[in-house]
Amino acid sequence: MNNKPSTFHPQPSTSTNVAVLGAGIVGLAIAYQAARQGKSVRVFDRNERAVGASIRNFGLIWPIGQPKGSLLQRALRSQATWRELANKAGFGIKENGSLHLAYHADEQAVIEEFLAQAGEEYDCEWLSAKEVLSKSPAVKASGLRGGLFSATECTVDPREAIRKLPNYLFDAYGVQFHFGSVVQAIEGNTLIVGSTTYRADHIYVCSGADFETLYPQEFQQVPITKCKLQMMRTVPQPGGWQLGPTLCGGLTLRHYTAFQDCPSLDSLSRRYDQEQPLFREWGIHVMLAQNHLGELVIGDSHEYGQTLEPFNREEIDALILNYLGTFAEVPRLDIAERWHGIYAKLPGATEVVLRPSDEVTIVNALSGAGMSLSFGLAEEILSGKYAVESIPKAVH
Ligand SMILES: Cc1cc2nc3c(=O)[nH]c(=O)nc-3n(C[C@H](O)[C@H](O)[C@H](O)COP(=O)(O)OP(=O)(O)OC[C@H]3O[C@@H](n4cnc5c(N)ncnc54)[C@H](O)[C@@H]3O)c2cc1C
Repeated sequence: MNNKPSTFHPQPSTSTNVAVLGAGIVGLAIAYQAARQGKSVRVFDRNERAVGASIRNFGLIWPIGQPKGSLLQRALRSQATWRELANKAGFGIKENGSLHLAYHADEQAVIEEFLAQAGEEYDCEWLSAKEVLSKSPAVKASGLRGGLFSATECTVDPREAIRKLPNYLFDAYGVQFHFGSVVQAIEGNTLIVGSTTYRADHIYVCSGADFETLYPQEFQQVPITKCKLQMMRTVPQPGGWQLGPTLCGGLTLRHYTAFQDCPSLDSLSRRYDQEQPLFREWGIHVMLAQNHLGELVIGDSHEYGQTLEPFNREEIDALILNYLGTFAEVPRLDIAERWHGIYAKLPGATEVVLRPSDEVTIVNALSGAGMSLSFGLAEEILSGKYAVESIPKAVH
């Protein structure tokens, strides 16, 4: 790669087995799996601490969103790793499960169709309205038919977890973190960081939504894009009030691929398009989660493009909150923070893993499931089970 800074003066290189660009969840997962194999590892991130998609998300480890088979198994392996790491690195993890609520016949039909084909791989069941209400004090009773309860989903606070993981990886495995260090170029197995060079037997590039700076030719070969999501967080709920499982409404059934083969999904989707076309226009589905501080995390929307507006739209937040009001009522809905996050997405693919040269592997575009899938994906890549492409996979 070119892009050498004008003041470039090569220094003696410092060598490790593995170098990772990016201290988001994808880079951390690669670093962890490499360190567990006994490899010496360095991680570089341009910012002084992680500020990317990985700390802006819900923190939901969400196997129920994955279709059964290899992706669900990847999510379940990731979840097992989250549990282990929460314990070892000292961050909170809530085993609170998830509830998809049904207020309409089409929502109940999609859930029943899902359950009919779910088999043993998912740990979930249909609950009556009464049973749902006993799981969460937030659920609105009026018109409730029941819901899909899954015990599997977990919640971490990404702000805590993503910032504690580097300390743990350093303490337990000696992984060296270089925050505030922009990787300007990669040449062979050398990373150029300011006026210093670092060598590694293998380099993993996990740069998230910044996919155009390094390896632009590789990314130009695929229709990779960016996705912006608006999020909100409330003040802590009073008196230790607990949400219970993470809640979502019927819109979420058309968001995750786990439900895509359910025959009633089309009529559900058409109804929502008629009732409120802006849900589709802004890619809105609504989830309500709670972190260990008692705050509620609410989102989200999905806007796609190479250059996304830096401003949040109040209209989107209002649509999210209005829809939330159709299924949930909480003690305090006072919004303390609003923000957005951006991730890389390759439509039609669950991730992008490329090998532009023998020394470099790019791991990116885990879209909206990076917290749920990264540890399992990293394990597959580091153990050689993942068939890495030298050129991008065809997408449909
Ligand atoms: C609002 C929102 C909600 C979400 N909710 C969930 C959820 O609940 N569950 C779930 O599973 N997934 C969720 N996701 C998806 C998940 O957050 C992403 O898939 C994941 O964070 C992507 O991780 P990453 O490491 O690729 O990117 P990032 O976290 O963005 O990390 C990339 C890092 O690379 C660094 N970098 C880039 N270029 C360079 C360079 N040249 N030199 C040095 N460093 C560089 C950046 O500074 C950055 O820290 C959500 C995403 C968003 C935005």
